Parts: sequence; C-alpha cells; structure tokens
Amino acid sequence: MTFFIIVYWIGIIVEMAIRAPLRKNWKGTAKTEQRVSQTEKILLGLLSVVMVVLPLIYSLTDWLDFADYHLPLWMGWLGVVLMACALFVFARAHMDLKSNWSPSLEIFEGHTLVTNGIYGYIRHPMYASQWIWVIAQILLLQNWLAGPIDLLFFIPFYILRVRAEEKMMLDTFGDQYREYLQNTGAVIPKFQRQGTP
Ligand code: SAH
Repeated sequence: MTFFIIVYWIGIIVEMAIRAPLRKNWKGTAKTEQRVSQTEKILLGLLSVVMVVLPLIYSLTDWLDFADYHLPLWMGWLGVVLMACALFVFARAHMDLKSNWSPSLEIFEGHTLVTNGIYGYIRHPMYASQWIWVIAQILLLQNWLAGPIDLLFFIPFYILRVRAEEKMMLDTFGDQYREYLQNTGAVIPKFQRQGTP
C-alpha cells in the first residue's frame, strides 16, 4: 500500500471518529420531520460503495489494476493537503452543527437554525468538505474505479440533497432561513453581508 493510499484510509477513520459522538446522540433524538426520498437512499448507498468498498478492493487486491492511472508526485501531495483541508472543514462543521446533525433530511424536537461559526459563511460545510474530498480522492487513489468514480455519484447526490434540504429548512424556519440564504453561499463562502455596508 502506498503512502497516498494510507492517507486516504486515515481520512476515512478521522471522519468516522468526528461523526461518532453525533451519530450516537442522533439515534436517541425525537424527529418531527423526515424527508428521505428513495433516490437519495440509493445514491447514499452507492456513495458508500465508491468511498469505501471500491477503495478497499483497490487497496487490498490487484483486481482493479487494469484501471490504474499515474499522476506526477506533486499531485499526490496536493491530494494530502486537500484531504487535510476536507477534514478540517468537516470537523468545524460538526463542532458548529452539534446535535442538529442527521445523516438524512430530518428536523428534531427543539431544532435550532445554526447560523454561527462556519455556518455564518456557508450553508453546507459538510458538503463543501465532501467536494474537497472527492478531488483529494482522485489524486490519492490513482485508479478510475477507486478515485474519480466518487465524483460521478456525488454530483447528483449534491444537487438533489441541497435542493431538498433548503426546501425543508425554508418550510421549517421560513423568513429566518430566507435571510440566512441571502447572507451565505452554498459551499463558497460569502463575506459580504446583505444590508451591511
Ligand atoms: N447541509 C449541512 C448539514 C448536513 S446534515 C452541511 O453540509 O453542513 C443534514 C441535516 O442538517 C438536515 O437534516 C438539517 O436538518 C440540518 N441542517 C442543515 N443546515 C442547518 C442549519 N443551518 N441549522 C440547523 N440544522 C441544519
């Protein structure tokens, strides 16, 4: 296993560790709303295949060798830097969203709209982290079936998820979310606030 492949697996373990406490809390929380479509469930399942199962086969066997590609060394290192950035954004988002996090689209009893911390700049830092991740994956796992394939499934997931999530948040928080939409970017930070000079 090369250094870059090891970095990828460290990334997976760190993400799981960051999420574990919130996942435990989420199981015991009362939900007032759930909007999980069948398409999203299928895409989420496929995402775990392209993030974990195929990389695992690539890392442990030579079955996927026919789909290898080779990038210059500096691109692998860029992958390491991007992986670190993805994990940093992922950790910050979890620290700020706290118990409002859920793996699918849900509203809890006592759900509050988080607009501080990293959520003060972007509405979807976890998905922003995933965008950085998919690029890192292309650079770290240099195989068409273990690297770039993630991007193929993440793009439709992102489009569907953001559309449905923002609709749910608008239905739940109304004008408060409408104002939040004006003041933030989806995944690219907005530093200029509307209504402020
Ligand atoms: N889109 C966000 C959150 C992903 S987790 C991100 O990328 O960081 C998905 C859950 O987070 C949804 O079920 C929704 O209820 C909740 N959520 C999303 N944005 C929120 C916010 N600003 N405040 C509180 N909860 C939020």
